[in-house]
Amino acid sequence: MNNIEKNLKEVMRRIGESAKAAFRNPEDILLVGVTKTRPAEEINAAIDAGLTDIGVNKVKELVSKYDLVKHCGWHMMGHLQTNNVKYIVDKVVMIHSVDSINLASEINKRCKNKKITMDILIQINLGMEEAKGGVSPREAEPLICEILEKCENVTVKGLMIIPPASEDINVTKGYFRELKQLFDSLQSMGNERLALQYLSMGMSQDYEEAVLEGANIVRVGTSIFGPRNMA
Ligand SMILES: *Cc1c(COP(=O)(O)O)cnc(C)c1O
Repeated sequence: MNNIEKNLKEVMRRIGESAKAAFRNPEDILLVGVTKTRPAEEINAAIDAGLTDIGVNKVKELVSKYDLVKHCGWHMMGHLQTNNVKYIVDKVVMIHSVDSINLASEINKRCKNKKITMDILIQINLGMEEAKGGVSPREAEPLICEILEKCENVTVKGLMIIPPASEDINVTKGYFRELKQLFDSLQSMGNERLALQYLSMGMSQDYEEAVLEGANIVRVGTSIFGPRNMA
């Protein structure tokens, strides 16, 4: 077994353990491998070892690796400028980082042109960190309602967070809990067109806790591919 395969199996094992501890089905949790600077060969090694979904945070990375990587589901999870939407709508299965009606409208327009629909997640900024994308919890419901009203080729599937970095796992857990509560309260909003399904939270440092707190998409980079080259 190569390292990537070994790492991947370990991450999958831990997700399974956490799921069981939370009385959930391990198969209900989607592992997205986040590749950042990793070359296509390493991504393909992970796919050969059973990884089904790949996450990128830059449009350039997606476009440059798309043809070199084996069949998989691509996820866009970084800040996305409206003028780049056209390059990715026919390539990704989900966009995790939607935080404005402008961005949702552009995704809608490009999808309409191609006669497709796009699954999106609303990125929530719980720490109110200026440098990070995402809407505040208060802004989530109005944004979702506006998207439901105006963007018929876009399906709001859930929420995503990148919580503020913390050394204390209990602080991080607090953020996960807060997001789960927001998810549940939006779910009970009573809008029949809104079927929230995914809670995208948890990275290499904290994906087990995220699963325990209700995540069903975890985004793991370093624990699968190793430390990043600081290019
Ligand atoms: C890089 C990244 C991850 C994965 O981070 P690791 O700590 O390497 O697991 C997850 N989500 C997003 C949005 C990222 O940019």
